[in-house]
Amino acid sequence: MSTSPVSTFWCERAWLNGRTLPNVQVRSVDGVITSVLSDVPPGDAQRLAGVVFPGFANVHSHAFHRALRGRTHADGGTFWTWRDAMYRLSARLDPDSYYRLARLVYAEMVLAGFTCVGEFHYLHHAPGGTRYADPNAMGTALIEAARDAGIRITLLDTCYLAGGLDSTGYLPLSEPQLRFSDGDFDGWLTRVADLSDQPHARIGKALHSVRAVPELWAVPGIVHIHLSEQPAENEACQAFHGCSPTELLARNGLLGPSVTAVHATHVSEVDIRLLGSAGVTACFCPTTEADLADGIGPARELADAGSPIALGTDQHAVVDALVEARALEHGERLRTGSRGRFTPTELVDCLTRHSALGWDAGRIAVGAPADLVAVRTDSPRTAGSLPDQLVLSATASDVDTVVVGGRVVVRDGRHEMGSVGAALSDVIEELWR
Ligand SMILES: [Zn+2]
Repeated sequence: MSTSPVSTFWCERAWLNGRTLPNVQVRSVDGVITSVLSDVPPGDAQRLAGVVFPGFANVHSHAFHRALRGRTHADGGTFWTWRDAMYRLSARLDPDSYYRLARLVYAEMVLAGFTCVGEFHYLHHAPGGTRYADPNAMGTALIEAARDAGIRITLLDTCYLAGGLDSTGYLPLSEPQLRFSDGDFDGWLTRVADLSDQPHARIGKALHSVRAVPELWAVPGIVHIHLSEQPAENEACQAFHGCSPTELLARNGLLGPSVTAVHATHVSEVDIRLLGSAGVTACFCPTTEADLADGIGPARELADAGSPIALGTDQHAVVDALVEARALEHGERLRTGSRGRFTPTELVDCLTRHSALGWDAGRIAVGAPADLVAVRTDSPRTAGSLPDQLVLSATASDVDTVVVGGRVVVRDGRHEMGSVGAALSDVIEELWR
């Protein structure tokens, strides 16, 4: 990913401080915004149609799950049978094929307006757990894929040590899970220490879940963890540890503002207070949680308790930032029987929670990265919508232009790399052959 030395954009309308203003000029130097002026004529600046938002953050991604889209619905099944299909897929990936798949998945994300992705990465080693010549070959493939797709990435390198949890304790890794493990906590930390930040990439950490990490240590910096996605996790944790997964994290000193809990679907009132009072970000993945029949988590209660809410497309059954935000609000409406649980402004805040990925981004302001998403207001979907409510009518199909680091990556709804759909189709067909 490269940045543009000097760029000047003129926005029909831009999202500034929680509302839209007309005729906004945004200048950037070396990918960073240096001035924002409203009520100015377009001049010879690059015109951005519709409403221009700050780039969206996809806070939870497993890139390879994209190859499962539209292939898991024939026989119903459960979260756990879906996971078996995911394990079969993971066995087919190596650094080369993962690069080719992830580059296109990330391109699909940019087409949807995401300018940064948090990749929750646990597919570390070769089948059987054999190390590649470079033990970080898979993570490096993801970082390169992001660069070539024009998206920022936080690689959340994931600790995964156990095969599961039941009332008797931690289970050994199953065959497909051997690829995910570094053997022990120190082995994981040592491998991750060899990864370093790049202009478009940050290195963060993740603990897969209380199911997969037997001993929880507080880790400095950005840390993500899957939390209470399924009732079975809560039951196993209660049976073995005598507490909820959230309480287990609290006991181990793992709750704090640099921590993101992914899903937080089945959390109690006590859990909500623990997460909120510690300022833990809650990353909801509403289209995934619907697809996997996980349930609808208490987003509003978490937000009211003090947890910033972020959004992720997780297993990529849907990659559509605007639909993800709407699904958060729709879940709340279905769960509670009332509308307006999150205002349009709050939904945009959820879409721009780059802080959960360690980036100081997500606003159109001097000093922020020049990451911009222009959403059309004249499509069949958006025509007639009030600009300030566009987040409740637009879809990824209405994303017209995406600028990352001052450079146009998507123009007229097309990614600079060409037909992403056709190329994705080829790569996914090849993986399943
Ligand atoms: Zn996940």
